[in-house]
Amino acid sequence: MSNHYSLMIHGGAGALQHIQAEGSEEDFAQSMYGILEQGRLKLQQGAPALDVVEHCVSLLEDDPLYNAGRGSVLNEYGEVEMDAAIMDGQDLAAGSVAGIKNIKNPISLARLVLKKSEHVMLIGHGAMEFAELWGVECLPDDYFIIESRIKQFQEAEKAGKMMLDHEDIEQEPQRKFGTVGATAFDLEGNLAAATSTGGIVNKRWGRVGDSPIIGAGVFADNDTCAVSATGYGEQFMRTVLAKMISDCIHFQSLAAPQAAQAGIEYLVAKVKGLGGVIVIDAKGRCGAGHSTSGMIYGWIEHGGESHFQLT
Ligand code: ASP
Repeated sequence: MSNHYSLMIHGGAGALQHIQAEGSEEDFAQSMYGILEQGRLKLQQGAPALDVVEHCVSLLEDDPLYNAGRGSVLNEYGEVEMDAAIMDGQDLAAGSVAGIKNIKNPISLARLVLKKSEHVMLIGHGAMEFAELWGVECLPDDYFIIESRIKQFQEAEKAGKMMLDHEDIEQEPQRKFGTVGATAFDLEGNLAAATSTGGIVNKRWGRVGDSPIIGAGVFADNDTCAVSATGYGEQFMRTVLAKMISDCIHFQSLAAPQAAQAGIEYLVAKVKGLGGVIVIDAKGRCGAGHSTSGMIYGWIEHGGESHFQLT
């Protein structure tokens, strides 16, 4: 057993000059710090990485500052429709849900898919039936829908377009992707990753992004790394970015910071991708990269102090 644990969490990437709509930098700092320290406590007590990423992501989902769980963006019907996935680096076990509604913590439903079903991914109506079978907590629409999201949705509807979280209609390049995620390395040396999102504003036709797609928005393998992504989902799906970062480590023995950088360079070179990733490698080293002007994330490397980036 090693003495070290590491933890990373993120609250989305983008142009964060416009985050005031949801909260101040101080609000994000407090939220990130509180969640990282709760994760640290669990890791210090010997909790498995899988439990810790589920716990941290469920706290991020409960916080309306982010585009996941409560505070998710609205789809074309003005509803919240969420996606989430979780992966265990020990045995590559994975669980994922897409197009679900009214589930308080989508990441815990994804964990149940991993644990209790013989499948990896459940969607829509079937996923809701599975949730009912296991008595998963459901809440009414008004728990999820917050004032600032209604305004954002009305702007997108008026402009007749699909928007990314906090894309500014007047200034096209200003975008914020408020998806959340966590990666952890526990005292036993196991890695895990989790990602959860409301997707993009005014999304249509049952659109699903990268967040619940294993290998695109989330990946974990004890031999390489744990990855959680945020950004323009279609671009992460087309580049299978989380798995690509794992492959960089597998084939080139890169450390987490270099692998994160290589992944973002590939995303930009291939599809001019916009977004970011958090990565912990099999030695517990932390790395992050983003092609957007900013990204909200925090980390604890090898049991040290917690650090943040909020712009
Ligand atoms: N990746 C998410 C999606 O495309 C959006 C985000 O990161 O905010 O659904």
